[in-house]
Amino acid sequence: MSGFLAGGLARNYVAGSWSEGDGGRTIAIEDPGKGEHFADAAQAGETSLAQALQAARASFERGDLADMKPSDRGRLMLRVAQEIRGLATEGADILCRESGKTLSAAHEEFEEAAQYFEYYGGVADKIEGKSIPLGPDYADYTVFEPYGVSAQVVPWNFPVSIAARSLAPSMAAGNSTIIKSPELDPLALAMLGMALERADVPAGAVSILCGLGSDIGAKLVASDEIDQIVFTGSVPTGQAILHAAAETVTPSLMELGGKSAAVVFEDADIDGVLNSLKSGIFYNAGQVCSAMARVLVHRSVYEEVVARAAELANGLSVGHGLDNPDHTPVVSAQQLSRVEALTSTARQDGARVAAGGTRLDRAGHFMAPTILADVDPASRVAQEEIFGPVTCITPFDTEAEAIAAANGTEFGLVAGIFTRDLARSHRVARKLRAGQVFVNEWFAGGISTPFGGVGKSGFGREKGLEALYNYVRTKNIAISLKG
Ligand code: NAD
Repeated sequence: MSGFLAGGLARNYVAGSWSEGDGGRTIAIEDPGKGEHFADAAQAGETSLAQALQAARASFERGDLADMKPSDRGRLMLRVAQEIRGLATEGADILCRESGKTLSAAHEEFEEAAQYFEYYGGVADKIEGKSIPLGPDYADYTVFEPYGVSAQVVPWNFPVSIAARSLAPSMAAGNSTIIKSPELDPLALAMLGMALERADVPAGAVSILCGLGSDIGAKLVASDEIDQIVFTGSVPTGQAILHAAAETVTPSLMELGGKSAAVVFEDADIDGVLNSLKSGIFYNAGQVCSAMARVLVHRSVYEEVVARAAELANGLSVGHGLDNPDHTPVVSAQQLSRVEALTSTARQDGARVAAGGTRLDRAGHFMAPTILADVDPASRVAQEEIFGPVTCITPFDTEAEAIAAANGTEFGLVAGIFTRDLARSHRVARKLRAGQVFVNEWFAGGISTPFGGVGKSGFGREKGLEALYNYVRTKNIAISLKG
């Protein structure tokens, strides 16, 4: 292997240098499309973590980013965006192999990462406070200050773009940042360190560590050297991190899982529904927090939707991500077993397997694209996040019934409505318990639209201008002008 993975090893980017794992330890990274070893990642331990924490604090105290003229900070971030694009060809190839996603999806991730730096780079000099009228005897104003050191823990499903989603606003606000990359696919994310280095981001302002969640992940979030936690991942890990945050009273942002529902009314454009279903549940093999994990369909079009969904699932091309098929593997053998086991509970709970239902008999970790019909909304498969290419279809008769079913899980990340009735789309959108509602197109919106959860899907918002305010705190300055 040449380029970034010369020697088959990705190093950690700590305090502006590239370092081997503590004690030379490494984590083996697999190609899930083949089920074979692909490369290794240097495993950060306590020494690397201590270096990153010390460097982040020192950088913040020096004011490397915080005291930089905001427009210069913005320009620095635009340079990072440019460098990310420059690394995209090599990076997408690595990301495709380590995560199993298609090469084109991996390219999209690098492009999205670049766009986050452009978007937030553009607002670095627009984080404005306000002046508060207290009468002639006072001058009073607010300023937004960076927290200090932002600790960011990233999941494996979109490692590069999710890291950029949190790092870019954190940098724009002037924080130092330590990223804990996911141990299943940390390689392409480590390349972000190259973009930062090439763009001349001050050493120590950002470190990227690959290590085990149970080890340096837990130690990072429990450290009293951090000022903020940004976590994207599963509910149980989020809960563990919140316990740690409670000990140090550290402000936290939680972007957790989902079990999002699309509501398909009788007047919906069924072709549009099917198009949305294809990306909604089969993009990235369904390993998307905002996947279309449930589809509630008006009884008058129910059998048509089930039949066409099954036809769609059975017709998807399957292959290694490098060949850009419709359907790719899940990230690991463990994830495949989890998806398959949870899917198998559906049959016992009375669901009809309209397509798929089991793993595919081929090398790599492939789950068959799966459509479950007649799913009881209270059953396990309709309540728990599967995080694989499996959707649950359930019929409904009335709008009220559909809303109750859509809102009937402990999650509330996104939801969708398919109808030609404008009034109904607004009415139902307001009643859905979700941080974002898509109408007539799943995954509508983009980096400038706020995103985040309700209930166990978490709290706080990423993306958009709103996210910027997660990365700053307000200070009020009240000045007496008397005498
Ligand atoms: P996960 O919770 O297992 O791991 C996420 C990260 O946390 C990894 O980097 C892991 O190493 C680390 N970690 C594990 N234990 C830790 C601990 N005790 N302390 C600190 N860090 C720890 O999640 P995952 O399997 O990587 O990702 C899938 C989950 O992420 C799904 O539930 C999905 O819905 C969710 N997700 C949410 C969003 C969102 O924006 N809401 C986006 C993507 C993924």
